[in-house]
Formats: sequence, C-alpha cells, structure tokens
Amino acid sequence: MIYFDYNATTPLCQVAKSAWLSSSDSFWYNTSSPYREAARARAQLEETRDRLASLLRIESERLVFNSGATEGNNTVFAAAAESAGPKAVVLVSSIEHPSVIASARKYFPEGVIEIPVGSHGVVDLELIEQRISLSQVALISVMAANNETGVLQPWQRIAGLCRGAGVPFHCDASQWFGKLDASLFDRCDYVTGCAHKFCGPKGIGFLATSKTASCPPLMLGGEQENGRRGGTENLPGVAAMVSSLEACDDLRKGSAEVQAELRTALESEISDRIPDTRIVGRESKRLWNTVSLIMPHSANGRWVSRLNGLGFAVSTGSACASGKAGPSHVLNAMGIGPEAAARSLRVSGGWETPECDWLALAQAMVKVHHELSSSDLPNGGAHVISV
Ligand code: PLP
Repeated sequence: MIYFDYNATTPLCQVAKSAWLSSSDSFWYNTSSPYREAARARAQLEETRDRLASLLRIESERLVFNSGATEGNNTVFAAAAESAGPKAVVLVSSIEHPSVIASARKYFPEGVIEIPVGSHGVVDLELIEQRISLSQVALISVMAANNETGVLQPWQRIAGLCRGAGVPFHCDASQWFGKLDASLFDRCDYVTGCAHKFCGPKGIGFLATSKTASCPPLMLGGEQENGRRGGTENLPGVAAMVSSLEACDDLRKGSAEVQAELRTALESEISDRIPDTRIVGRESKRLWNTVSLIMPHSANGRWVSRLNGLGFAVSTGSACASGKAGPSHVLNAMGIGPEAAARSLRVSGGWETPECDWLALAQAMVKVHHELSSSDLPNGGAHVISV
C-alpha cells in the first residue's frame, strides 16, 4: 500500500515508537504518586514539556498536554465563553475543522460570525479587520493550514491584528505542525496541535496559551497540568509526540523544497494527462504535501476504490468529513458546488514519500482516468464537466 493520506493521520515513526516504549518501560508510574519513581516520571514529563516549548519558542508553563486537537479546540471555546458577556460574538473562518465550528456554535449559539474565504481558499483578511472592532468579540479563530486543500491562512497577520485590538486569537495549527516551522506561534493566545498528524501517536496533543489567556479546565476532577486539565498524564504519548515533532522539524530543515517539487510534478502530470482536472487553491500558498483535486468525471468514491485496487490510499476530502453525508463545507465555502465537490480527491504525502511513489500515483491516476472515462460513457469518450 502506498499511502497518500497523511493529512488524515500518519504512521508512527521509529523515534516516536522508541520514545513511547522507553517511557512506558521506565516512567510508567503515576506522576502524582508520592514516591521517588513517580517523581522521576514527573521530572521526565517536565523535561519533555521543556523540549516542546523550545521547539515552539515559548515558555513551558504555557503548554497543556491533552488528548488532541479536538479537545484543544473545545477547551478554547469553553474558555472564551466563560469570560464572555451575554452579547459576545466569535469570528470563525468558514473553512475551520468541524471541532472548531461545532464548539463555536455550542458555546456561542447566537454569536458565531463566519468569515468567508475567497475562491482561492484564503480567509478574507479585510473583513476580519472590519469586524475586529465590533465591541464584543470574545475570540477570533482561524486555522494555520487547511486540512482539505492545504491552503495556508494569514494567521500571523491576524494574530498581529488581534494583539492590537486586544482580542484573543486562536489558531488550530494541527496541519501545520510537523510540516512547517513550529516556532512562529508566540503571538497567538491559543494554539492547538496533535501528534498523529506528524508521525506521533493518536490520542495525544497540546494546547499552547499566551501568559494572559484564560484557560479553565474542560476536563474536571484532577489537578494535573497545573489544574488546567484533569486526568492522569499520558507520559509515553507525550514523549513520543515531542520526539516525532523534533524529528519532523529536522526533516523540514533538510527537504521541504524537494518535497514541494515532487507535489508540483504530480500536479503538472495530472494537468497534462487528465484534461480539465482542477487543482483547488493552486494560486495560493499551500502545504508542500497536499493536493486537492476536482476530477473531470466520475464520483470520487469510484476514484478512491479504483486507486485502492491499484495499491494507493487517497482520500475524498477530510477523514472526518468522509463519514458524513453531504459535500465538503470547505469546498462549498470556496464556491465549489456540490456536483463538482462530489468529484474531489485529496492527496497528501509525507516527509519520506519518495519521488517514485509520487510518479507511480500520477500514472495510476491516468490509468483510472482512462478506465473510468471509458466505462462512464457508452461511446468511450470522457464525460467532461467544467468547474
Ligand atoms: N483540526 C484539524 C485542522 C485537523 O485536521 C484535525 C484532524 O483531523 C483536527 C483538528 C482534529 O484532531 P484530533 O484528531 O487530534 O482530535
């Protein structure tokens, strides 16, 4: 199986596996227990927190370990609601992950203002500038990189605007960490990340807060994480997560440009050999590993299963979205209608995806294009629909 669904989740890398096993062997004690061995586990937890803080270039006290980005995103909106007045609103981009949108709607049922994106998939910065001066903005939430299209958002600019206006800013950076520079987030009030997007284990993540951001616990009933998240800490998970982020950071320094070229080569090949394929967000800055495509014919499920039969794993969109009925809210926000969205595919590679795999995928897609286009129409011609 050649895996091209890294934005959904990633395989555990060797350094993460070793860190998990070694921490499980040596530091399996409950960090809250009163004997020496538990104190060593506690020290190991804090050393690991320091390593993550140094990657993010923030103070260690600002980091809370949790179960992943969904929990982090929920925690942020719960925190914003706790200190917000009754008329408060939140500004949320229309392409956020469902865990952001659902949390915003739960905690601010009357006060969610969705900020649209243009057809290139980038959030409307001008609109944020206008809306930020609304009297009761409790929080602005814009992701760093979109999970479906890979399009990068101007989150650093928005963080600056928020600082100037005294409005808390949340950035879901789940797709950024492990792929791009982790050390740029010091001006955000809340940042969420999760290990399974960068070759760490599932079910472990972190929330970074600014010194001034309020962050009451979502998980009650324990004083762990300085009273900010109840529940016995998953120390092996934390050790594995931080080791995998360090490893990705090293890879990033060596090979980001090379990887981006491999992705671009796939795009060129597909554009040349499968006419009328649209590459979503092509004009925008994107993650080096992601291609979102609108194929010229045939439902995306048929592409996925044919490609699977040829030994490739690609996705129809986000993993979370694919289980639910209806087209992607991200493509919809970019003005792509449901008929075209039903032909969308997402290809996302990893740091170690070799050139030959990208080339083999392009060839397989061309093969599937020929098979499907001749099976779709009795005359054997491609059923081309422009988007
Ligand atoms: N945010 C984004 C942008 C994601 O891509 C994901 C993963 O699908 C999440 C949040 C949820 O992360 P987790 O699986 O750690 O809860």
